[in-house]
Amino acid sequence: MRQLSARYIAGETLEEALGKLRGLQARGFLGVLDILGEDVADEAEARDVLRTYQEAATAASEAGLDSYVSIKPTHFGLRISRDLCEELYADLLSHCASIGVFARVEMEDHSTTDDTLEIFRSLRARFDNVGIVLQSRLFRTPEDVAALPESCDVRMVKGIYLEPAEIAHTQPEPIRQAFIDLTDTLLRSGHTVAVATHDPVMADAVLERQGAANVAEERTYFEVLLGVQERLWEDWRARGKTVRAYVPYGPEWRAYSQRRLRKNPEILRHLIKATLRLS
Ligand SMILES: Cc1cc2nc3c(=O)[nH]c(=O)nc-3n(C[C@H](O)[C@H](O)[C@H](O)COP(=O)(O)OP(=O)(O)OC[C@H]3O[C@@H](n4cnc5c(N)ncnc54)[C@H](O)[C@@H]3O)c2cc1C
Repeated sequence: MRQLSARYIAGETLEEALGKLRGLQARGFLGVLDILGEDVADEAEARDVLRTYQEAATAASEAGLDSYVSIKPTHFGLRISRDLCEELYADLLSHCASIGVFARVEMEDHSTTDDTLEIFRSLRARFDNVGIVLQSRLFRTPEDVAALPESCDVRMVKGIYLEPAEIAHTQPEPIRQAFIDLTDTLLRSGHTVAVATHDPVMADAVLERQGAANVAEERTYFEVLLGVQERLWEDWRARGKTVRAYVPYGPEWRAYSQRRLRKNPEILRHLIKATLRLS
């Protein structure tokens, strides 16, 4: 598991993550810091997670690294209390605002979507430095796009969680088409989109729609996972696009990898394919 994870996880410590960000920045890629973990057991643990994120944001900013922080709601205690979760996001956002750092509320499985969006809407009314994630797999997402506040920064993803067929697309093609259509709608509605994918055909379709709609270049950028399809990042950067790499780290790498594998065994296929390609 450690060997399989090594390419995709920066390490256990903040220093290792900063080292990875430094290396990426030297190659022209910006960063996204993610501290591994989800579903904290109690309030004290959730408050520890807040402190760890505050330290990470401060350290990256002091080191002159262009990297924002990205947090799962259940890592901030969503399953314990929605109020606690919102309070911790608000504390992190005011800290980040004071040092000029952006933060993103991530999206987990469908049991958390309503609460996550309500928390985001409430935070967005108070903070400019917050973004959200939407999943093209879910049937509800067009309505969620329509209900967004003005001028959001939205990370568009296919969605890592395998959801039931009653509420989500389950086949690759409808998920990709929904991604393209949703991004188009977001751009035409004045939002900025972090196109988080390693699917080059879908990415080209998104850029083509952006061009057709005459949307300013800087209203899209790419986000990619550490260690995944690096040739694609190079290609996008060579075409003048901003590319941010997602840099996960922390002592919880094993639990994270196992949970992700259980939730989506497809990751194992990706890992094996990527490892073989590397060797
Ligand atoms: C920066 C970033 C943040 C994300 N945040 C969220 C989130 O908050 N919520 C959420 O539900 N999902 C999130 N995701 C995951 C996303 O929903 C998809 O599951 C994931 O990006 C794979 O979809 P794809 O668009 O790359 O296309 P795919 O068709 O799945 O992949 C295209 C190709 O990329 C490679 N690939 C893709 N993923 C991996 C991987 N993990 N390991 C190795 N190779 C891989 C494979 O070679 C594959 O053939 C995030 C993804 C990124 C890039």
